Amino acid sequence: MIDDLPPLREVIQAHGLSARKSLGQNFLLDLNLTAKIARAAGDLTGHDVLEIGPGPGGLTRGLLASGARRVVAIEKDPRCLPALQQIADAYPGRLHVIEGDAMEIDVTRHLTPPIKIAANLPYNVGTALLTSWLDPPDWPPFWESLTLMFQREVADRIVAQPGSKAFGRLSILTQWRADAKIVMDLPPQAFTPPPKVRSAVVQITALPEPRFPANSKVLQDIVARAFQQRRKMLRASLKGIPGIEDKLKAAGIDPTARAETIDLERFCALARAVA
Ligand code: SAM
Repeated sequence: MIDDLPPLREVIQAHGLSARKSLGQNFLLDLNLTAKIARAAGDLTGHDVLEIGPGPGGLTRGLLASGARRVVAIEKDPRCLPALQQIADAYPGRLHVIEGDAMEIDVTRHLTPPIKIAANLPYNVGTALLTSWLDPPDWPPFWESLTLMFQREVADRIVAQPGSKAFGRLSILTQWRADAKIVMDLPPQAFTPPPKVRSAVVQITALPEPRFPANSKVLQDIVARAFQQRRKMLRASLKGIPGIEDKLKAAGIDPTARAETIDLERFCALARAVA
């Protein structure tokens, strides 16, 4: 028991929260599990926590029980609001629910630093939200850490190292300015209804500064081109960049190498040579 609120199965029944695929609704109903995910986010005391897609509120309850100063939760499905109101009543002044689309709301004005983000993300907007958090106008970002549930395949791409099939744009974008590790692995049966694939929780902690100097736009443009045709040699996939062969050599990269073998440090060196 993490609180005195009703079990989540009862909450779902009482509020008629049948899961909708279009909203990426795969709910976590085991409060021990949601408490464990909240613990993976580290010490929440004194922090505002942003949660995207609280649904019936399993993770929300875990975050509040773990001592978050405040949880700001954005939920698109209005059917969930009465269930979330019950949680807000049980934790007076600590849960602020915003009805709307997380892709469209400027959350920063609702949050006071220090801020952490934790969510069992809707699969259809998960990667887009992650990339927006990883590429803000200024660094360090408004958040200290991200504790996020993804399909296992996406989690693998986030933490992948050069030489693996999963290594690509998401690995570089994340690891350039953050530490990332998989902290939990979950089978489909952990969710209601169970999705087709396994899931994983990734813990991403912002670094105070990028790991290697580079211009963000240049780095991202290079990485996008390089991985668009990952089987091609870099001198071919990057041929749209004037003088690329010399720039690759200046960055210590063999022009006949393929993108998936090049580490972050070399990509940053190439971004500097191109800029
Ligand atoms: N956090 C709950 C849990 O763990 O049981 C629900 C997770 S479920 C995977 C995703 C949640 O995100 C759903 O409640 C869904 O309604 C909500 N959602 C989907 N798209 C959204 C969007 N664009 N903005 C905000 N919430 C969204």
